[in-house]
Amino acid sequence: MATGANFQSVEDTCIMCPRIGSKFCPKCHDARYCSKDCQALDWSNHKIICKSFNHSRPSDLHRRVLLFPGGNTPPRFEWLEAWPISALGLPGSGEFLNTPIILGTENSDLNNCVWNTIQGRIVRRKREESLYYFKQSQDDPDFPSPMITNHGLRAFTRAGACRDSMKGPIIVSRVAEFELMQLTHRDMDMRDARNTADWLSQVGRERGTVHAANLRDTEVLGTTIESNGRVINQGCPQFSNVRITGDDVLWTSEGSQIANLLGLPLLFRSSSYGKGTLIPHPVLENPAATLLHRDVISKKVLEASGLKGAQKQLTYYGDHKFEAERERLAFVGITGFGSSMSAYSIVPDTCYVARADGKPLPKEHTEAICSYIADKIEPQLIAATDDLYENDLVTKRDEILDSITKDSFLEYYEAMREEKVKRCNMSWRDLPNPYEIKEFDVGLLKAHAPRVPTFVHPPIPRIGPIENYGWPPNEERTYRVA
Ligand SMILES: [Zn+2]
Ligand SMILES: [Zn+2]
Repeated sequence: MATGANFQSVEDTCIMCPRIGSKFCPKCHDARYCSKDCQALDWSNHKIICKSFNHSRPSDLHRRVLLFPGGNTPPRFEWLEAWPISALGLPGSGEFLNTPIILGTENSDLNNCVWNTIQGRIVRRKREESLYYFKQSQDDPDFPSPMITNHGLRAFTRAGACRDSMKGPIIVSRVAEFELMQLTHRDMDMRDARNTADWLSQVGRERGTVHAANLRDTEVLGTTIESNGRVINQGCPQFSNVRITGDDVLWTSEGSQIANLLGLPLLFRSSSYGKGTLIPHPVLENPAATLLHRDVISKKVLEASGLKGAQKQLTYYGDHKFEAERERLAFVGITGFGSSMSAYSIVPDTCYVARADGKPLPKEHTEAICSYIADKIEPQLIAATDDLYENDLVTKRDEILDSITKDSFLEYYEAMREEKVKRCNMSWRDLPNPYEIKEFDVGLLKAHAPRVPTFVHPPIPRIGPIENYGWPPNEERTYRVA
């Protein structure tokens, strides 16, 4: 499977992971996978939209979009007619000819996505292309009320994430942005649909936008990773169970590419969120969380360096536009092979982790994934970035990608479990492995787990009654702040 001289084009990879995808869905001939495992991971989404994918474009003006009609109607691909000439006299336009009819409103809200936060990969496939959604405007005075929950969208996202503001019909399009906010539509395909599902799963879980009734029922068992001692290499990280509910979860971090390759996509939250800018700090590192965020797909290979962790942070998030342009269609990560993204991945504090598919993630499983990366993957990454250059490095990288498999992890997990039980660590004994675990298996664990601390906005300074400030000036008043 190793490609040798070249990094693969994004178009050649599996839509679920960075491996080469050489197997196609026999019905739509568009979704490509590296393996049956990845196909199975996509199946709950793919089965909804597969049949609606067709190649017969009604006219040159039509573009293929992904439509979530709203209510109980499932999502589907649809050909929509784009405006031939925009208001500015240029080809293309921000919206489709019949957007107002579908959305039931003249002005639609739009939002765009460039980054798949669950898979830890860039969404842009060509320069200046990203995914946009169009939905009913919240500010439209003629707003048709009430908006109904989009159950099709809920069914399409992981663990049924759907925020309150995303009710009503939604159109998702792949858009190329040009000057003057000029948008030109490209056809959506199965890879875009997968990115859409991951994107909406993440934004659907942003705190403050999730209505309690939507997600409270998806309360899951997750793991807290404490940065023990908060100093690199001092003590091992502490893993503990935690209960995470929909309405108090805020997922800010990028996904774990490695966990994704294992078929166990994860969501993260750093407890530092909201405490101001996350400043990467070489001392206040959470080593386990940083390991989970290792970039194993990037074309950008770092200088030979024996240094682990923070010292490897040589590139930054802001580089991605430049990188995507320069590297054309290479499947790029952003930070560089073997490193972790500085803005998101140096987690200088406690970190909360949950499975993106809503299944339980007890502390034993998180510990096993982190240990697997530390023991099996990290040494390979260090060897690759230290001693190898160019084509040799590319070949080694493909070898590493091929070595990160469900089977190798399961073997590691079983050995670790045996060892733990031998040392009378009984919580491991009856626990099913991550691929077999069900909600039912963790009833008691979940009941006893504390809830993840609710994110609290920084306090807004309360201003007391004006006389407390002694204004207008009055010598006899004391200065008090409520
Ligand atoms: Zn795959
Ligand atoms: Zn298909």
